[in-house]
Amino acid sequence: MTDCGGDAKLEVKQASKEFKESENVAEKYSAMTGTKNSDMNMNVGELSAAFTAVPTHKSMKKQIQFANQEEKQEFSKFPTKTGRRSLSRSISQSSTDSYSSAASYTDSSDDETSPREKSQVNSKGSSDFCVKNIKQAEFGRREIEIAEQDMSALISLRKRAQGEKPLAGAKVVGCTHITAQTAVLIETLVALGAQCRWTACNIYSTQNEVAAALAESGVSVFAWKGESEDDFWWCIDRCVNVEGWQANMILDDGGDLTHWVYKKYPSVFKKVRGIVEESVTGVHRLYQLSKAGKLCVPAMNVNDSVTKQKFDNLYCCRESILDGLKRTTDVMFGGKQVVVCGYGEVGKGCCSALKALGAIVCVTEIDPICALQACMDGFKVVKLNEVVRQMDMVITCTGNKNVVTREHLDRMKNGCIVCNMGHSNTEIDVASLRTPELTWERVRSQVDHVIWPDGKRVILLAEGRLLNLSCSTVPSFVLSITATTQALALIELYNAPEGRYKQDVYLLPKKMDEYVASLHLPNFDAHLTELSDEQAKYMGLNKNGPFKPNYYRY
Ligand code: NAD
Repeated sequence: MTDCGGDAKLEVKQASKEFKESENVAEKYSAMTGTKNSDMNMNVGELSAAFTAVPTHKSMKKQIQFANQEEKQEFSKFPTKTGRRSLSRSISQSSTDSYSSAASYTDSSDDETSPREKSQVNSKGSSDFCVKNIKQAEFGRREIEIAEQDMSALISLRKRAQGEKPLAGAKVVGCTHITAQTAVLIETLVALGAQCRWTACNIYSTQNEVAAALAESGVSVFAWKGESEDDFWWCIDRCVNVEGWQANMILDDGGDLTHWVYKKYPSVFKKVRGIVEESVTGVHRLYQLSKAGKLCVPAMNVNDSVTKQKFDNLYCCRESILDGLKRTTDVMFGGKQVVVCGYGEVGKGCCSALKALGAIVCVTEIDPICALQACMDGFKVVKLNEVVRQMDMVITCTGNKNVVTREHLDRMKNGCIVCNMGHSNTEIDVASLRTPELTWERVRSQVDHVIWPDGKRVILLAEGRLLNLSCSTVPSFVLSITATTQALALIELYNAPEGRYKQDVYLLPKKMDEYVASLHLPNFDAHLTELSDEQAKYMGLNKNGPFKPNYYRY
C-alpha cells in the first residue's frame, strides 16, 4: 500500500481530478450518489436496475440457515434496561465479538466516575453527549487525523459532494465501534449533510479520546470504554429518544440499535427510510424480520458485499493474525509448527501470513474444495487429532463450535499457543478448561496460562475470543472499504425514489462494490485497463461495469 502520509490531501485531490476526467463506473456512481439533480436520472435508473437484479432474502436462505436457533429468536426478545439476563444475551455476540473494529488503546481505569454522573460541555456549550472525558478531544482529533491518511476514499467522497449534500436532511442514528476509523465515517456523513447521533455497538471497543473528539466537533455521541450493560442500552436510548429530533436512517453493526428502535419506538421505526447493517449477526436478524413480514423498512446488507468480505476476512486477517500473536506472546514464527482449522477466507489469510514468516503450517478442513485449495497452496491437510501433539500453535477460523475440544487440549505439548480468529468464542471449548485440576494464571492482559497437574502449560489467548479484535488493531485501510460501502449504501437508500426499495433486505449491487474498490485504487497508483468497444462487445459487457456476473467468485 502506498503511504499517503503528508501528501494525502494532494493525492486525494489528484484522484478526485482524475475521477472527474474519466468516463468510468466510478464517475457514474459519483454522479448518482453525489447529487440529486434531475439530469442524473439516467444514471440513477441504471443503478436501480443493478439493485433490483440483486437477490433478496429468498435466495439468501442458504446463507442464513447455519445460524443457531438462539439467534433466530433474538428479535422476539425485548431487552429491558434492567433485565440483565436478556441484555447479556442480546449484546454478547454482537457487542463483544464483532471483528470489524480495532481494540482500543484507551485506558479508562484512571477515572472511575461513571460518565453518566458527570456534567460535561464542549467548547461550543453543548452538553448533548456522554463520553468519558471531553478534555481528551485534542488527543482524539490526532487519532482521527492519522486514520484519515489511510481512508482517502472517504475523504474523496467528502470532496466530491462539496457542492450538493446528498445526505442533507438525513438524521442518522448510528451504532458502531467508536474508533478513529468510524469517526472518519461519521464525519464524512456530517460533511455530506447528515445530522448524526452515535453510540457504541461494543461495550469495550470505544476509544474514549475519539468519542471526545466527536463530541467536541458537535456529534451527539454516547459511548465510553467499559460500559455496563445498563449503560449500553441507556446510550442507545439517549441517541434515539431526543426531543425535536427523529432519526430517519439507521446505521447499525450487530443489530442492537435496530432491535431497540423496532421494539421501543415502533412509530420511529416505521418512518425510517433505510437501515444499513454491517455484521453477520445484524444481517441475520434483518432477514428474520423480513421473513416474518415485520420489516417495514428497506435494509442494505453491507456484510455480504464482495469487497467487505474479501478485505475484512482475507486481507485483514492476513495482517492482524501476526500482530495479535506477537503482541500477546512475542513468539518467533520461523520453524514453528502451526495448525490452522478452517481454510475459508480467514484461514487462507492466516495461513499465508504464517507461511511467509517461515512457520510450518498445516490445515484442517471439512470441505473437500477448501481442502484441495489448501493442498494446491502447499499446505498439508490433516486431522487435528493426528497432529495436535506436535503443534506449537493451534488457530481456529471456522465459525463453528467445539473445533478444539478438551481432549485436544489435554494432548497439546507444553507451551502450545491456542487462539481463535472466528466470530465467536465457541470454537475452542474454553469452558472445559474450568475444572479443579487445572490452574489458570493470567500472565498478561488477554494471556492465560492453563496449567495441568504435571506442570504442562497451554497458552490461551483472549479466552478463546477473536484474537485480532481483542489483542491487536485492524488496519484503517481495511475499515475504509467497509466504511465507504456503508456511506454509499446510506446515500443510496436515502436518495432512492419511492418504490425503488421495498420492505426487504438488499445486497449491494456489483457496480457499487466495483466503485468502492475503484475509489481505493489511487492509494496504490494502480491504473485500470479500459475495455475497447470491440472488447466490450465481444465479452457482452458494459464498458463501465459491472464486470462480473453476481455469481462470480473472486
Ligand atoms: P468461511 O466459511 O469462508 O471459512 C470457514 C471454513 O471453516 C470453511 O471452509 C469450512 O468448511 C471450515 N470448517 C467448518 N467447520 C470446520 C471444522 N470443524 N473443522 C475444520 N474446518 C471447518 O468463513 P470465513 O470468512 O473464513 O470466516 C470464518 C470465521 O471468522 C467466521 O466466524 C467469521 O465471522 C469470522 N471472521 C473473523 C474475522 C476477523 O477479523 N478475525 C474477519 C472476518 C470474519
